[in-house]
Amino acid sequence: MRYGVLSDIHGNLEALRAVLRELSGVDAYLCLGDLVGYGPNPNECVETVRALGSVHCVVGNHDLAAIGKYATDWFNFYAREAIMWTQEELSEPNRAFLASLPTKTTVPGAVVVHGSLPDPMEYLVGEAEARSTFEAMTEPLCLVGHTHVAEYYWRENYSGEIGHALLTKGGRIELQLGRRYIVNPGGVGQPRDGNPRASYAVWDTSQEVVEVRRVNYPLNLTQRRMKQLGLPSALAERLGVGK
Ligand code: ZN
Repeated sequence: MRYGVLSDIHGNLEALRAVLRELSGVDAYLCLGDLVGYGPNPNECVETVRALGSVHCVVGNHDLAAIGKYATDWFNFYAREAIMWTQEELSEPNRAFLASLPTKTTVPGAVVVHGSLPDPMEYLVGEAEARSTFEAMTEPLCLVGHTHVAEYYWRENYSGEIGHALLTKGGRIELQLGRRYIVNPGGVGQPRDGNPRASYAVWDTSQEVVEVRRVNYPLNLTQRRMKQLGLPSALAERLGVGK
């Protein structure tokens, strides 16, 4: 079984299309939340994910905020501006789809959440959060998004020792027996690890491999559309630097 793993699409249709082209032929998709927010095509992105057919999708904080179910007090000014625009823009069927998404889902061998496993809206940004997620895991693999940084943590079952590596340029993780893994595939639509290329992953369950990959997309088209729609220019500019 080969899963395409997508996270943090954030209304960036050009990035999503480029990633899905690379993923053609996978058996199913795992979507780690934040389909909307920031970007100029929230409806098209939700519709594209809905049309994937075999997709297991969890909800992110921006998805909840876009349907009025998550306070934006902790959002920065630009994120809040974009969410207010997204709230106006979203169609009723797409709002209903986002409202139907769970905060956590499980497939054989893996659990999927947007943030950390104990709190799906918490950022998994270091060893402390990784440890609490490892302790809550019953599957060998946990797939997370939310930070838009491609990276992974592993824990030795025997010693409890934790390791960590960034996957800013992509990379191949060979899953070993006796270890647990937390993998963040990075952001499709708004990478924040200094690499502006769209980030995603392929999990091959028979090979026991998760491969994080990066792909170029026409980010100038996304930026131009954001400017035309009057979305904050800082949000368009950050796409160019991947921060
Ligand atoms: Zn996000």
